[in-house]
Amino acid sequence: MTTQRTPQRLTSPKDLVEAGLAEPERLPELEAVARRYAIGLTPALAALVEPNNHDDPIARQFVPDPRELIRDPAERDDPIGDDAMSPVKGLVHRCPDRVLIKLVAVCAVYCRFCFRREQVGPGSGSLSAAEFAAAVDYVRAHAGIWEVILTGGDPLTLSPRRIAEATQALAAINHVKVLRWHTRLPIAAPERVTKQMARALMAEGKTTVIAVHANHPRELNEGARSACRRLAAEGAMLVSQSVLLKDVNDDPETLIDLMRAFVEAGVKPYYLHHGDLAPGTAHWRVSIARGQELMRLLRARLSGLATPTYMLDIPGGRGKVPIGPQWLHSGDNEQHVVTDPQGIQHVYADRLGADS
Ligand code: SF4
Repeated sequence: MTTQRTPQRLTSPKDLVEAGLAEPERLPELEAVARRYAIGLTPALAALVEPNNHDDPIARQFVPDPRELIRDPAERDDPIGDDAMSPVKGLVHRCPDRVLIKLVAVCAVYCRFCFRREQVGPGSGSLSAAEFAAAVDYVRAHAGIWEVILTGGDPLTLSPRRIAEATQALAAINHVKVLRWHTRLPIAAPERVTKQMARALMAEGKTTVIAVHANHPRELNEGARSACRRLAAEGAMLVSQSVLLKDVNDDPETLIDLMRAFVEAGVKPYYLHHGDLAPGTAHWRVSIARGQELMRLLRARLSGLATPTYMLDIPGGRGKVPIGPQWLHSGDNEQHVVTDPQGIQHVYADRLGADS
């Protein structure tokens, strides 16, 4: 009788080479990157990689590249300015009605373009029970906080028991109405998104939102779609997050397939992020002009339901804004020029009632 080895999570350059995801001669350069940034790739995602295709858009997101050690002068360890807005360890209060709580600093997979790459990795500090209690105290003391975003790292790497404890502690605060969890787990390890976990995320009288991170349509295979359906079946609202990545999804066909795959999985396309200025990520970034052009093409071919918003996190913690493209330009005398999805311009004038 033959015994089958259970596929393991890949966490080192040697693992990646042995799995056929990188050529053996690349081992020294992979190890140089691994000394600085964590490696992690789950069996579920590794199984999606096309054999012998080292340019595979899924493999590229997780296999280190020596360019990660080249730092552009504009890149920052904390590109979106979390630290400057952190009154309590692990909590970021940038906008009046919501806070982020970074519950854990570990992930099931380590994306090579991660905007928090200087903070995440095995052994990096996750919140202790006392630190989480201090974050909850802060939320309780600020009556304007309507939404709490649980992030990290990937907070769904916690056990259902710990997820339930965090959910219930925050749900007990009357003014908190929405709990939003940012995760890659339904894609990276769909088998871990069990009914028990889905239930742990819910709280009576509160809205649970799961922001699912995926960047290529092949990531949303049947396993991932089932995980999304298990979350929705317990009552979660699902929205998407993707990063615009060079040679992964910076073409209209891939983005259209990705956004349709989200909708087919019951996930509303929400944000397409412009790449942040994280260290060693210049080779991932696409120009804003190209991003806007792609958004124009998406608008022409996708329903509004499947169209995300293209977002830039302004460096230094100044907030997140949509970056176009602009469809309407206003002139004097309530005259506007509006461009239709095919690129043809039209004049539109305000027509207001006499008492407006
Ligand atoms: S899952 Fe999120 S936090 Fe973790 S490495 Fe990827 S982008 Fe970063």
